[in-house]
Amino acid sequence: MNQPGGKDRIGAVLARMNLPSVVDRDSLVASVAWRRGRPIRLAPVPHRLIPSNHYGMWLARVSDDVIVYTDDTSDVHATHIVCHEIAHMELGHDHDAIGDTTLDADRLRGLEPVVGSSAVLGAFGRSNYSSEQEYDAELLATHIMSRVSRRTANVDERTGRILGSF
Ligand SMILES: [Zn+2]
Repeated sequence: MNQPGGKDRIGAVLARMNLPSVVDRDSLVASVAWRRGRPIRLAPVPHRLIPSNHYGMWLARVSDDVIVYTDDTSDVHATHIVCHEIAHMELGHDHDAIGDTTLDADRLRGLEPVVGSSAVLGAFGRSNYSSEQEYDAELLATHIMSRVSRRTANVDERTGRILGSF
């Protein structure tokens, strides 16, 4: 849960991440995975496989974490979703998630061809976090995003700006 001085905490988490001033998305994901000691897989999937009002979701599994995100978006937006989910990981929001964090059987079946059949311990999406947690995740994601190279995303930059949300 958030405490007074939450912004200092975001700063501390960001410092702990020890990111270079510019990093590409794959290196970012690799460095977070390395520090967590668990592989992170990125899985673009059809939007219908993600619960409504979500663009991304974090699947915690026995031996890895999967960031599922809609494949129906720009590269910039996809990177933003990935940064947002990484922020939830870095902030430890799985520990005090709220509501149902199981994944329904239909959705799990739909995701299986993409992510495999490894048991999902928890599926964390927007409905599993408090608004404070969402705010903190978005704040941290914005800081992380400012470090991520857009070199590969130039083509989509305009679309990303028009979408303007996450
Ligand atoms: Zn979130």
